[in-house]
Amino acid sequence: MSKLAINGGDKVRKLPFPAYKPLGEEEVEAVSEVVKSGILSRFLGAWHEDFYGGPNVKSLESEWKNYFGVRNAVSVNSASSGLIAALGAVGVGPGDEVIVTPYSMCISATAPLFYGAVPVFADIEPDLFCLDSDSVEEKITEKTKAIIVVDLFGQPYDVKKINNLAKKHNLVIIEDASQAPQAKFDGKYAGTLGDIGVYSFNYHKHIHCGEGGMVVTNNDGWAERLRLIRNHAEAAVAGREDLSDLSNMVGFNMRLGEMEAAIVRIQLKKLNQLVKDRIKNVEYIKQGLEKIDFIQSAKTREGATHSYYLHVFTYNQEKADGVNRNSFVDAVKAELTYTENREAEGVKVSSGYVRPLNQLPIFQNKIAFGNKGYPFSFSPEVDYSKGICPVVELCHEKTLFFHDLMHPNMTKQDLDDVILAFQKVSDNISELKN
Ligand SMILES: *Cc1c(COP(=O)(O)O)cnc(C)c1O
Repeated sequence: MSKLAINGGDKVRKLPFPAYKPLGEEEVEAVSEVVKSGILSRFLGAWHEDFYGGPNVKSLESEWKNYFGVRNAVSVNSASSGLIAALGAVGVGPGDEVIVTPYSMCISATAPLFYGAVPVFADIEPDLFCLDSDSVEEKITEKTKAIIVVDLFGQPYDVKKINNLAKKHNLVIIEDASQAPQAKFDGKYAGTLGDIGVYSFNYHKHIHCGEGGMVVTNNDGWAERLRLIRNHAEAAVAGREDLSDLSNMVGFNMRLGEMEAAIVRIQLKKLNQLVKDRIKNVEYIKQGLEKIDFIQSAKTREGATHSYYLHVFTYNQEKADGVNRNSFVDAVKAELTYTENREAEGVKVSSGYVRPLNQLPIFQNKIAFGNKGYPFSFSPEVDYSKGICPVVELCHEKTLFFHDLMHPNMTKQDLDDVILAFQKVSDNISELKN
């Protein structure tokens, strides 16, 4: 008789897992204060003292830059906006190329398109999953202007090698730290390791306010350009005779609201503990799964700390008696159940991460804005075929899986159920043959 739930046996876990909910009474009170004040946003999209926003936005930016030890913090309404604004601020434009990773949320690769630059994909490290410096170096051309590095899954990119490359070739590093707030390399926070860093306050992230983001940089000139792009630059530059460079000053509305800013101010105070709890839970799960020899909890980079947005494993099919990763992961999922507040996503264990981004239709067809090939026609030789980044494809199709059942709201009993599900499938893996 079958024991595994996927074959009709009993599930390890029937009750849903608890929601990830870092918000509490303090946030409720802070929002309530903002509502009572009547000032839900104080931004003015013209050159005026309110050009820089209201009291919570200003305080949040000041607290953020002190916490992370940077000269400037500019809040925005999402990390996606932040990445776009960062590219605009450093002067990326038509004719430029930006090196990106195929393994991230799509905006980490599509952001250059908004300023008419062409994304060029480099491959990732097989064990740490961030951009591989050798592959990046191969992709550098005369046109390369910037690299968007992503601190994927919660740990910093290869700072030493990639920063050296950038220096040598005079490239700007934009660091997407959306998944890695509080992670460190060499004692310095993720987000501050390149030239401009971006954080996300989206609902799915370590700390959140629904939707929001932050951009940090030590370059005061870029910071002011960020503030302009965020807030209708074209309307504000009129009173700014001090601005010599009008490139990319078209402007958007990327402003963060006062309620969101008030929430993030409190969330920031909780960040350190929230990440500590994640690390503790990951250690517990890692220990519980140590004996399963065909899965391995991913390494942390030497010199770095991890903030575990996701907990990643690599899978070895040979050691698993020939059973492939997808069959194994599907069987584990069948033993478990969904997480509250994220019901639609099903069990939060997944084979692979996102489909390699070069495979998106936008790149396969080279159609972004309009249908005449803009901006891809500036660099017609750039190749997006399947197969250009073999490490990503191997990870995605065969070896990588992750879960996020280690967030701070998980109890010891919850974690034990997760461990039990993996153990049960491992003990009965012969049931998955064929
Ligand atoms: C979540 C995420 C983003 C986008 O963040 P938003 O605030 O939702 O725009 C960008 N990059 C990475 C790596 C992310 O995980």
